[in-house]
Parts: sequence; C-alpha cells; structure tokens
Amino acid sequence: MTLPPLTGLLVFQPLKRRYCAECRRGPLPLLVLEDGAPRCLDCADLGHLVFLPSGDTALTRRAREESTLSAVVVRFNQRKSRYERQGVLVEEEALARAELRCLADAEARRRRRVRDARRRAAQDALFAQTFATEIRRLFPGCPADRARAVALHASERGSGRVGRSAAGRALTESAVTAAVVASVRHLDTPYDRLLMSGVPRHEARRRIAAAVATVLRGWTEAGLGSAAG
Ligand SMILES: [Zn+2]
Repeated sequence: MTLPPLTGLLVFQPLKRRYCAECRRGPLPLLVLEDGAPRCLDCADLGHLVFLPSGDTALTRRAREESTLSAVVVRFNQRKSRYERQGVLVEEEALARAELRCLADAEARRRRRVRDARRRAAQDALFAQTFATEIRRLFPGCPADRARAVALHASERGSGRVGRSAAGRALTESAVTAAVVASVRHLDTPYDRLLMSGVPRHEARRRIAAAVATVLRGWTEAGLGSAAG
C-alpha cells in the first residue's frame, strides 16, 4: 500500500476500527501513524486543529498559509486503490483569518461588479442618446420620443439587435435606418397582423413596403419644412 505523494503531516481516516497505541482510545475517526502505529490526534499533539473539508480551494490554500501547523487528511479508496484527499486540519484562528480574507475578496468582487454595471449603464445611456440624435439627423420628422424609444430598443444589451451589432455601434447610416424601418414596420403598418394571419414574411414585407416608404419620406422631408404638418 503506497502512501500518497504529499508533503507535510498526514492524517488518515481509517477504514477499519483502529485504536490509539498510546492512550488506547477508539475507534478513531482520524489517526496519525507514528512508526507504523496509530495515534489519536490528542496524543499526536494535533488535537487543537479543526477539520476543513475539501471543496473550497481558495479557503483551503489560505487556511494552510495562515496556519503554523496543518495536516492533510486522506482516506484510502479501495476501488481506485489510492489515497484520496478529504480535507485539511488547520488552526481554528487560521481558518477564521482565511475566511475573513475570502469574504473580503468576495466583497471586493461584488463592488467591482457594481462599478462595472454602473459604467456599462452609463455607456448604454450615452450610446442610446447618440443613436437617437443620429435618427433625428437622418429623419428630422421622427418625433423625439419615438427616436428615443427606437434607440433604446435597438441598443438593449444582450438583445442581438441592430444597435448591438458592430455597424450599429459605429452608427452607420444603414444600421440606424434599419432600426427605424423595423420600428415603422411594427408600429405604423399592419405588418404584425399580416404575420399573425399566416402571410409569409417576405410577402408581408412586400405588401407594406409602400407604407414604410411613405412614413420614412414624411420623416425625412418634415425636417426640411416642405411636408411638415
Ligand atoms: Zn491517544
């Protein structure tokens, strides 16, 4: 039976009922082997340590860093024929300090997430504003609140809409126009009703093309003062 390749103190979770060779206590949940004989943790001067089960890698690493004395707890897996790590024994104070460090990290991460979210929200607001301004430059007759709604809708994060595309981000004329056309199609024409009644998408678009063009023309010319009102 080969021992696991670990450095430092080893503590075993015995598979059989084992008793301390020194104080005769047992059966022992954890034991240390000294000259091949089992010793309880108290007799091995490890009785003051607390068990930290495996699972939280950062906490384990820090608890061992903080602990003057620590041990690795292993158990033999008969099926796999090897020792497996179950956790570590560390000083209680060290574990408390390690937990504090991990909590501080979690808090720092949480604060960073809040800052990032705020920054993204500000960027989004600025982008939607710029998008709306561009809509009004290309379509001066488009009502301001409509331009804002189109810009917000198109630039929603994670939507995959035109405003989130590279072209939309660059605010190309075609990307801005595409967002406006989509809005007109849904709000100013019977497009959605046609789709609901089973008209194929391309046929529906063909039928409403003239209505879309009329609205767009009205919005383009309104700003020039020729077709206002
Ligand atoms: Zn003992």
